[in-house]
Amino acid sequence: MSSNTPATPHKNNHAANASAEGEPKVSNFLRQIIEKDIAQGTYAERRWAGVPGGADVQGKGQPDPAKIRTRFPPEPNGYLHIGHAKSICINFGLAEEYGGVCHLRFDDTNPEKEDTEYVNSIIDAVKWLGFSWNGEPGKANPDALPYQASDYFDFMYECALYLIGAGLAYVDEQTSEEMRINRGDFNTPGKASPFRSRTPAENLTRFQEMRDGQHEDGSMVLRAKIDMASPNINLRDPAIYRVRRATHHNTGDKWCIYPMYTFAHPIEDALEQITHSLCTLEFEDQRPFYDWLLEKLCEGGLFASPPPRQYEFARLNLTYVITSKRKLAQLVYDHKVNGWDDPRLPTIVGLRRRGYTPESLKLFAERIGVTKSDSWIDYSTLEGCLREDLENKAHRGMAVLDPVKLVLTNWAEVFGSDDHTETCEQPALPHSAVPEGSEPPPARQFKIGKEVWIEREDFEEVPPKGYKRLFPGNVVRLKGGYVIECTGAGAKTAEGKVIEVHAKVIPNTKSGTPGADSVKAKAAITWVGVSDGVQAEVRLYDRLFSDANPDAGDKDFIEALNPDSLKVVTAFVEPSLALAQPDQKFQFERFGYFVADRVDHVAGSKPVFNRVAGLKDSWGK
Ligand code: ATP
Ligand code: MG
Repeated sequence: MSSNTPATPHKNNHAANASAEGEPKVSNFLRQIIEKDIAQGTYAERRWAGVPGGADVQGKGQPDPAKIRTRFPPEPNGYLHIGHAKSICINFGLAEEYGGVCHLRFDDTNPEKEDTEYVNSIIDAVKWLGFSWNGEPGKANPDALPYQASDYFDFMYECALYLIGAGLAYVDEQTSEEMRINRGDFNTPGKASPFRSRTPAENLTRFQEMRDGQHEDGSMVLRAKIDMASPNINLRDPAIYRVRRATHHNTGDKWCIYPMYTFAHPIEDALEQITHSLCTLEFEDQRPFYDWLLEKLCEGGLFASPPPRQYEFARLNLTYVITSKRKLAQLVYDHKVNGWDDPRLPTIVGLRRRGYTPESLKLFAERIGVTKSDSWIDYSTLEGCLREDLENKAHRGMAVLDPVKLVLTNWAEVFGSDDHTETCEQPALPHSAVPEGSEPPPARQFKIGKEVWIEREDFEEVPPKGYKRLFPGNVVRLKGGYVIECTGAGAKTAEGKVIEVHAKVIPNTKSGTPGADSVKAKAAITWVGVSDGVQAEVRLYDRLFSDANPDAGDKDFIEALNPDSLKVVTAFVEPSLALAQPDQKFQFERFGYFVADRVDHVAGSKPVFNRVAGLKDSWGK
């Protein structure tokens, strides 16, 4: 496993919130291509009618106010994941950076697989990441309707008719098996189909019959007529239309022929006046066909030159994570996780529920950079971006995750009554996290009384060597409260498990008072008052897979599932945490970053928190 973080390391300046905007922009091959095209005016003559369309429509438009147009074209057949987030950040980010526009387009040319649940989730994901689409630069409307490839079926059909008329496409009636064999392979050139020499008139009749439903599904296809001996097998007369009787979610039963993806995609790009069509590396050997098709359609006057160009970048591979929609769907439908937004999933809804912020994902996309070769990114890079983003934003708070009761046995002696409580105050953000020149947020307040909750691991009857927390005779500070001296274990269960720890409060040592430093404490421990602490459910999420590359080779990723990826504990949290709004992020002191669950948390009455990430990187360990 190799890791790859090509961008320059980020320095966390004093109180500067980490963000993709704050990240120094590192040039990459895409930025270089775009800068060169803008400098040379490659697309300067382009016109834009405000809507997608061919040369006749766009020719009547204004000079395009967008310097570049990119697009993000998901197939609405699943939920978007962290890999798509990279693609979204690249496409929308570059458009923003260079005075362009990015189009959100549903690639819904395949009639069988679409679902409005997915359509809506994709719109939500792009919006949540903070991007708007379509329209003109700076005027993009976040409620604009995304484009739909299926709206272009009529135009695609026109393109097919043009190719047929120009002798550049033919209807092939070979069986799919014959076609496969006759395509040849890397060592053998293909063999021409007996139907290849049909006249344009014959092809036109046949193709119209296909459209009119006179032929069975799979009985014939329309193929581009290019070169059966091409070393690139994708140019050996690729199929561009097939017969398929299926009801389409947008066009209903209007069509019984559907364009193939490789034919549809370049036309979609050209209709939308896309300049830079950015995709992942697996499309690299489709590029010659992309160029061939658009060149022919420009020659035919269907589009104006210059056509869009395709550029490929490496897809994101993240350790411990699966980014195949099909495999993610399997985890969801086989109930290995609790739905698409399970906080262990790398779906955008899952990451959001887990507590990831749009800023942290944008920072991540910028930091991993854009490259031309596949590599693995360490999961710790993603977590690091989250920590940087939250370090100066997430208010601090105390929570006790494995509670045991501590009784201050001399409380009434010192304060006059067992019921007496004292208010303690701690900053919501440490001084170093408050931006220079701005007011710190209001301090947190919580109460200390005779009984407080402490972590079970913070008491040892017989301390191991070097142990600095509570053991008989040791002096420790309750963080933000008083200094106490431990006197030993109180009540125990029949099995000898400690139920209560005893200590004495040392008067006049409250944090923030003049006597605070009068007694030296060996350590400060976190705690929550019994009088004002609130019970909370805390979901301790860990990596979903135990294997860094769960689906590499022919591994069964189900076997790599980590049985301990979720541990639920009943904790106590201080009042400021109990009042959290859903989705609000915190740093639980000493434990890391947590978020109030967007679905199950109810402020005050039912606090539910998810662990986003620990304070330190634990992935390599
Ligand atoms: P899957 O194969 O899991 O179904 P996909 O690539 O087919 O995913 P699309 O909906 O077609 O999903 O993808 C939309 C865009 O997102 C495409 O441009 C695709 O290249 C890009 N994309 C998908 N996965 C990744 C990834 N892991 N890293 C970067 N970009 C990705
Ligand atoms: Mg796809």
